[in-house]
Parts: sequence; C-alpha cells; structure tokens
Amino acid sequence: MPRRIQAAVCEGGGAPPKIETLNLDDPAPDEVVIKIEAAGICHTDLGIAQWSESPRVFGHEGAGIIVEVGTAVKAFKKGDRVVATFGFCGDCPNCGDGRPAYCFDGIALNIEGMRAAGRPSLTRQDGSPVGGSFFQQSSFATHAIVTERNIVRIPDALDMVSAAPLGCGIQTGAGAVFNQIGAKPDRPLLVVGIGAVGCAAIMAGKIIGCNEIIAVELRPERRELALELGATHVLDGADADWSEKVRILTQGGVTAALDTAGTQRTFEACLAALHSGGSLGVLTIPGEFEASIPHPGGIDFMTKTIVGIIEGDAVPAEFLPLLISYFASGDLPVDRLIKTYPFEKIADAMDDAAKGKVIKPVLTFEDAIS
Ligand SMILES: [Zn+2]
Ligand SMILES: [Zn+2]
Repeated sequence: MPRRIQAAVCEGGGAPPKIETLNLDDPAPDEVVIKIEAAGICHTDLGIAQWSESPRVFGHEGAGIIVEVGTAVKAFKKGDRVVATFGFCGDCPNCGDGRPAYCFDGIALNIEGMRAAGRPSLTRQDGSPVGGSFFQQSSFATHAIVTERNIVRIPDALDMVSAAPLGCGIQTGAGAVFNQIGAKPDRPLLVVGIGAVGCAAIMAGKIIGCNEIIAVELRPERRELALELGATHVLDGADADWSEKVRILTQGGVTAALDTAGTQRTFEACLAALHSGGSLGVLTIPGEFEASIPHPGGIDFMTKTIVGIIEGDAVPAEFLPLLISYFASGDLPVDRLIKTYPFEKIADAMDDAAKGKVIKPVLTFEDAIS
C-alpha cells in the first residue's frame, strides 16, 4: 500500500517549495523506506530547482530510520539508523572499479531521479506523478525511498542533524582533498570559497597535515571561520591580486587547489596559483554547463592537472564511516557549519542558503506530520 507522506514540492522555475501530501510508492526489492529525521540543503538542490520545469521533490542529504525494507534487502533491517548519499548502479565499469561517484548512470540516477523500478516513487492524490528519487532519495519529505546501495548505517552516538550533510557536501569537500587533488602533508593547499564544501576541504587539509592552508573568500565572517577551522592564511576574494599573493606566500605556488566558487576568474586564478605538477579540483563551471571554458593554455596545459570533482570520488560505505570517526574525534566539526530549520520552514532555509546567510541549513522533522 502506498504511504501518505508530507513532501516539499518545487513546481519549477525556481518557485519556492510548498509542503503537500503525496503518495510514496512501495519499495522495490532492492529499496528501503526511511523516515527522515534530518535533511541538509545543498547548492545542487537550489541550482536544479531553478532549471526544472516540472514539479519535483529535492533533497539529497537525508538521514533517518528505516521503516520498511524491500524483499531482496539483506544488509539492512527496520529500525536501522542511516545516512543517505548519492545513487549509483553498482554494475557499470566505474562502479566495479570502486568509483561509484562516476557511475555511468550517475546523471540519470541522481540529477534526473530515474528509478530502477520504472514507476514513479511519488504521486499526487489524483495519481499524477511528481519528480522523486532525486539522488535516489528526494529527502525533503517525511519519508523517502532509497536503494540499499546509497545508504550507510550510522552509530547511535551520532545525531541525525550532524550526520545528514556527510552524505553530500562534507563528503565532496573532504573527498576532494583526501582522494582527488593530490593534497599532501607539509605541502600547500588552496581552497577558494568557504561554503560547506570549502569548510570540509579545510578540515581535511588539516587532518592530512597540509601546510600552508590558504582560504580565499569574499565574506569577512567566513574568512574568520576558515581560520578557526584550520586555515593558516586567508585572503579576500575581492583582492585582484590574491593569486599572486598565494604564490608569494608559498614561494612558488600550491600543490593542490579546490575551486568551489566556479567563476572564470577563480578558475584562472586557481590555475595560476598552482606550481608545476599541481592539481586543481573544480566543482562547478562558469556558465553552468553551456559555455566552453576559456583555458589560459600555454605551459599550464602541459604542467597542471584539472580534476572534475563528483562527491569526492568516495566509496560511501567506506568513506562515510571514516568521516564519522573524524567527527567523533573532533577533527571534522561539521556541527559548526549547521543551522537547523523545522521542515515547515524549508522555503526560508532554501532562501537563506541562496543568499549565503547560512553555510549548511539542515531541516528537522520532529513536528512534521508522519
Ligand atoms: Zn554504475
Ligand atoms: Zn549536494
């Protein structure tokens, strides 16, 4: 029997979400239903809510308790506490090689919300479908269907609010530094843009023992936070010469850089701040996938690496427990980035995130109708 749930529906074109009653399908054999207790808001939710032209339910940093399991699920049971992460097929060459973030079906499973079961996960009371299964979860709702592949069990000691953002934003920033951009102990790391991903990158750089850790950010209060989290130097993103200052500070450039801002200017400045052999990780690109990227070219083309960052190239079943252990030891203080909002205030939370008033909004569901 389909379950009646409360979900935040975005009608498309950037319209704010409205909570309404939807039907959630029964889980397919490899799926489970989670009662959501916390859900982080990530910039991918905001970006795709702008582009979408049909009603959809976003949310891809859900955490909660399993209330129903599909007939073929073996690794999880009712009552398990889990955090949800990105979807992947489990069968393609990249999934087989331990690179599920680069799953051949990644765009369909995550951005498009394709469900392997072939029928919609969410419908309105009149039977019309609403786009669900965003990142195989659509967790801006009291309940979500996920696959057994894109959940990871969490310890009782970990609160759901701190757990939720581990599934995307924190995994992406920390994974970029641990797995993708060649950050090394005693070698310099540059992080541009101090949002949730940038903060996680700084924390990861500190864990690795990078030196220097240089943060570039427009907002003074976020530069202050970067210093508290482990940055050794901060520079104002409005300073036209920040890239040159990075080269002077590091006596020749950084080994690893992460550009979370994604503008033409930050891309070129990051590339210029690398020393020969260095790597730049990019999370988003100028023009949002439509424009080609003017590359400075020249010797940079031969001596520097550009890496596209998806979910920190993490294997969530291994990487999320590692992040949880760093949180427990105090080395990954994600709680410092979080502001909670009751689910009913999701429109305010998304608006505050878009305006940069909060680094990591997390929705809570204590009072939501279930
Ligand atoms: Zn795959
Ligand atoms: Zn995300």
